[in-house]
Amino acid sequence: MYQFTLDWIEENWNDSLTLRQWWQLMGDARLSFPRWPSAWFGRDCTESEQNDIARAFADKGVLGPPTGLGVLMGAPVTMTFGTEEQKQRWLPSLADGTEGWCQLFSEPGAGSDLASVSCRAERDGDEWIINGQKVWTSGALHSTRGMLVARSDFDQPKHKGLTYFIIDLEQPGVEIRPIKQMNGAAHFNEVFFNDARVSDADRVSDVNNGWAITAATLGFERSGLSEGAGGGVRVAAGKQAGNLDRAVGELLKHVKASKSHPDEYGGLFSSLQKIQQATGMNAIQRQKMIDLYMNERIAEMTRERITSSMKKGQSPGPEASTMKLHWTNGLRISRDLGMELLGAEGMLTGGDLQIEGKVQHFFLSMPSASIAGGSDEVQRNIIGEKSLGLPKDAQTDPKTPFKDIPKN
Ligand SMILES: Cc1cc2nc3c(=O)[nH]c(=O)nc-3n(C[C@H](O)[C@H](O)[C@H](O)COP(=O)(O)OP(=O)(O)OC[C@H]3O[C@@H](n4cnc5c(N)ncnc54)[C@H](O)[C@@H]3O)c2cc1C
Repeated sequence: MYQFTLDWIEENWNDSLTLRQWWQLMGDARLSFPRWPSAWFGRDCTESEQNDIARAFADKGVLGPPTGLGVLMGAPVTMTFGTEEQKQRWLPSLADGTEGWCQLFSEPGAGSDLASVSCRAERDGDEWIINGQKVWTSGALHSTRGMLVARSDFDQPKHKGLTYFIIDLEQPGVEIRPIKQMNGAAHFNEVFFNDARVSDADRVSDVNNGWAITAATLGFERSGLSEGAGGGVRVAAGKQAGNLDRAVGELLKHVKASKSHPDEYGGLFSSLQKIQQATGMNAIQRQKMIDLYMNERIAEMTRERITSSMKKGQSPGPEASTMKLHWTNGLRISRDLGMELLGAEGMLTGGDLQIEGKVQHFFLSMPSASIAGGSDEVQRNIIGEKSLGLPKDAQTDPKTPFKDIPKN
């Protein structure tokens, strides 16, 4: 696949294509999401074939496929739980990058205990009316739609009265406010719903069956399974202020020169190699580099196992939680090694430092990774309960109607 992809890029890359045209070409060649099924824009590729494709895009230094939560979680949710009509309607625009989705799960009173969401969904004919607040919504400002879990029945216990929708964010009842982070970015947002509307045709699965779809979405998120080929310079999908109509050559220059790093956690391994070439590495640092490599190899094998169970129609199980821990473990080693290699330069920030200050930016982003996608502590609870058979966390309210559960 590596040579095939290199040849394909050689033949098709042209600086003057628009991003829309480039993603369309990649999609037609089935190189954007090689692990997706061949029935839906993919190639049924294995992990190692997909890695070969990613490596070819990276080596050529061209733009990679559309990225974001829509392709990471929205697409597998649609493929697994969507109706045929929903698949036809949503998958093509996720695959060609014209739509980007965000994940509207967490609320001020519901994070680790996600089944406590209180955002309200009330039926109104063929539509639902949504009222409430979400928080920490990554990429909402640049998204066209969101995967929303809302409470449709307050008389049911908390896991039972939830319904899952794909809601249009471009409507008057939706207000999005960015939250500034300590790394200077405003990657996530608060989202307020004030009589927002979503069609019943945009409901995924049955009314009050939202918890099952929510849990599966988190599995897709943690296992990172449906990410695109990656490997190239990354640009998020969705309403990117006209990005889709910009020439790829111009966009590539802009993203490479950008001092803000859109991909807060990615690409650290190759960056560390570059610093190491400049500064050298002692035996202990080399050992850390090897730890990093082993962590990544184990993650690849786990991902391969999850891919094969997904091909049998199963949603990711507790192994998705081990994937999340591999990810944060790798990020932690990268951060520590990167700062060690940089020495005193690690205290400075700015684009004119080694590898454009990427390690320092990453250092400030890293604490959020162990919380994103469900905190590391919660992943350990899941592995303990579901894989090791340890006793469940104490729960006081699994059978009480949600409206009667005391809230602060
Ligand atoms: C970078 C980033 C991006 C995010 N993007 C999104 C997004 O796009 N969409 C979205 O919906 N949400 C998003 N989130 C929110 C994220 O899912 C929540 O922050 C996370 O689930 C934790 O919830 P919380 O913040 O309410 O913390 P809490 O649940 O209040 O947890 C606080 C602390 O208590 C610990 N804790 C809680 N319960 C337990 C337990 N049972 N056992 C052991 N320890 C426990 C936690 O580990 C944590 O350390 C994002 C968060 C981050 C940091």
